[in-house]
Amino acid sequence: VSPAQQAAIAQTETWGAHNYLPLPVVIDSGEGAWLTDIDGNRYLDFLSAYSAVNFGHGNPVLTQAAIDQLAKVTITSRAVFSAPYGPFVKALAELCGKDMVLPMNTGVEAVESGIKLARKWGYETKGVEERHANIIVMANNFHGRTTTVISFSNDETARRNFGPFTPGFRTVPYGDVTAIADEIDDNTVAVLVEPIQGEAGVVVPPKSFLPALRELCTERNVLMIADEIQSGLGRTGKTFACEHSGVVPDLYLLGKALGGGILPVSAVVGNRDILGLLHPGQHGSTFGGNPLASAVGLAAVELLKTGELQQRSSELGEHLHKRLRTLIGNGVDAVRGKGLWAGVDIDPYLGTARSICYKLLSRGVIAKDTHEKTIRLAPPLVITEAELDQAIDALVDALAEA
Ligand code: PLP
Repeated sequence: VSPAQQAAIAQTETWGAHNYLPLPVVIDSGEGAWLTDIDGNRYLDFLSAYSAVNFGHGNPVLTQAAIDQLAKVTITSRAVFSAPYGPFVKALAELCGKDMVLPMNTGVEAVESGIKLARKWGYETKGVEERHANIIVMANNFHGRTTTVISFSNDETARRNFGPFTPGFRTVPYGDVTAIADEIDDNTVAVLVEPIQGEAGVVVPPKSFLPALRELCTERNVLMIADEIQSGLGRTGKTFACEHSGVVPDLYLLGKALGGGILPVSAVVGNRDILGLLHPGQHGSTFGGNPLASAVGLAAVELLKTGELQQRSSELGEHLHKRLRTLIGNGVDAVRGKGLWAGVDIDPYLGTARSICYKLLSRGVIAKDTHEKTIRLAPPLVITEAELDQAIDALVDALAEA
């Protein structure tokens, strides 16, 4: 690390709270699948800001949409109507095949909003006794970091000394529909699920899981809420990861790439029978659905409407997974994922996933570990096959040196 980067890191560590453990690199700019540090070194971005940058850094279409809107008006609050808001919610609802959109900002706000909507639906439509609603969640979930959302996390690092927690959640093993069926009672309003668990290590459930869950939820009059904040919007080779199983949830939770890699935009998307239960004053956000977010969100949705990026993710994803599978037994214990999204378990004999991420960094690839032994790979979907190969070659080299 150069003295200039060392100084920038020291300043950050002095003045910023230490709630992350960043790789020792100070980024100055980005373009497409590439990031450049303040010394001019270039890196292939295999994290994409946890999939917020699916469309690539500095995507010209999205940047132009933002610039055009910046020149007009950026924040109005929802106290008035704004020109870009209607087109955005219409386009997003249509992309999801649903009636209505509730816009928020960060992913965890979409999760919180989905929980509130499910509870409200439970009391007002299903007839659950007030304050008795329960929601079934999966072990090893990651849905964000607010007090309510960590209340149903089983990551002790995320929970320790942050209680008391919000009640009303029941945890079952991921992928086990029988366990869910056993937990559902008359007060169950929803099952909240990541179609592929991202932070847990890109964990793909058994093929039958989501269809069986969909059927169970319909049969027992329970809402199926799919957190597609990380898995959605092209990452897995389809617009939504649920599509791989032919499943349509009652509520989609979206975020990350919805903001085009430019600003935080999230949403809950569902039908009128659920979202229509919200009336003025019952929920809101100063910034949710602001004109700038709406303009960028609309441009992001329009990019997805062509299906081109999903196709890229699907085709290049096959190539990625094919090459990664050849590494099993050669420094890699297991590979999971779909499309341009992979969890790669490193043979502990070679070191931790983090130690391999350091080796990747020195070879010009930015990738991030999750837990002790998994590296998650998630490049921008605009990456080329040659760039993809360059990064996989770097991984092969890093493993050989470990
Ligand atoms: N849900 C899932 C599946 C996520 O992966 C994340 C973030 O990683 C979130 C929710 C929370 O999003 P945010 O960090 O924008 O609050």
